[in-house]
Amino acid sequence: MDKIDIKNLTLEELKNKIKRFSIPTYRASQLFDWIYKRRALEFSEMNNISLGLREKLDRYYYIGSIGLKERLRSSDGTEKFLFELSDGNFIETVLIHAQTRNTLCVSTQVGCKYGCVFCASGTRGFVRDLSPSEITDQVLSAQKITGDRITNLVFMGMGEPMDNYENVASSIVIMNSQEGLGIGSRKITISTCGVITGIERFARLGLQANLSISLHEADNKKRSALMPVNKKFPLERLIESCELFIKETGRKITLEYVLIKDKNDSIINADGLSNIARKLKAKVNLIPYSPVYSKSFESPSQKALNQFKDRLIKNKINVTVRDSKGKDIQAACGQLALVKARP
Ligand code: SF4
Repeated sequence: MDKIDIKNLTLEELKNKIKRFSIPTYRASQLFDWIYKRRALEFSEMNNISLGLREKLDRYYYIGSIGLKERLRSSDGTEKFLFELSDGNFIETVLIHAQTRNTLCVSTQVGCKYGCVFCASGTRGFVRDLSPSEITDQVLSAQKITGDRITNLVFMGMGEPMDNYENVASSIVIMNSQEGLGIGSRKITISTCGVITGIERFARLGLQANLSISLHEADNKKRSALMPVNKKFPLERLIESCELFIKETGRKITLEYVLIKDKNDSIINADGLSNIARKLKAKVNLIPYSPVYSKSFESPSQKALNQFKDRLIKNKINVTVRDSKGKDIQAACGQLALVKARP
């Protein structure tokens, strides 16, 4: 019988599993405490559990982990970790320090199948989904490496979270639970390029987590050229699913908009974005494009960025300019893993 990675299981799932092996269910909370609070890597470390039970657990389960391959620090304080998975694939995780919080940007897949033309992660194509254990272990590892507690979590790294919905949802339940990592649901944000089937399921998950839409263009034809996902889930359907999310959760949505020189940085673009933001009562994050290896797109000029932002403000849209963090360590999604995977 193949062993199961115990970190793929939510607390409820673990209780159900161990019941079948005649292990009392209260042991599940004890195991969670050892794994997520005390960061045990082996059952043998769990010294308040009898030797017989530890041996039994060891027969059925193992405690999965990812390995640190590289740690980079930016001059602005941002850190990037390159992790190696058990099958030799690489993923990356970015830690952004701010005064009162430490935000971790986690990956959810190796590569990505959505092929947004400006993105490093899409360049390599899709390799595989990450398991709940591999997603959660990015947080545990970042905490262990830095000694800092992760307070906020964004699913904005490599991969499309809604395309790996089951595993992402399990990892959120584990990280949100008090017995797990205890990260409040309001401090967790999923970002999607617009996979509306996932948005609809997320709306009904019953958590007060945040949703962020990588919009990047407000015109269907132009968005489809930048982001092929738009051909399957055009803007009208995306807006409907966002409205459902707002209705079900009562949470506000953020629209992410990466400004690319001469692609989507005109005043007409700003007005189109304003219309969608107004309809959804959404906040807008403007992010100047950070050039990616092998892509010909460029950052917008400061003048174009200012004009775009001023137009949104004039249109009464709540807008923030988010500077690309960690430019000197290739912190944009998928860049480092892409460099590592390059032949
Ligand atoms: S932007 Fe997101 S969805 Fe698009 S290719 Fe990159 S990782 Fe995938």
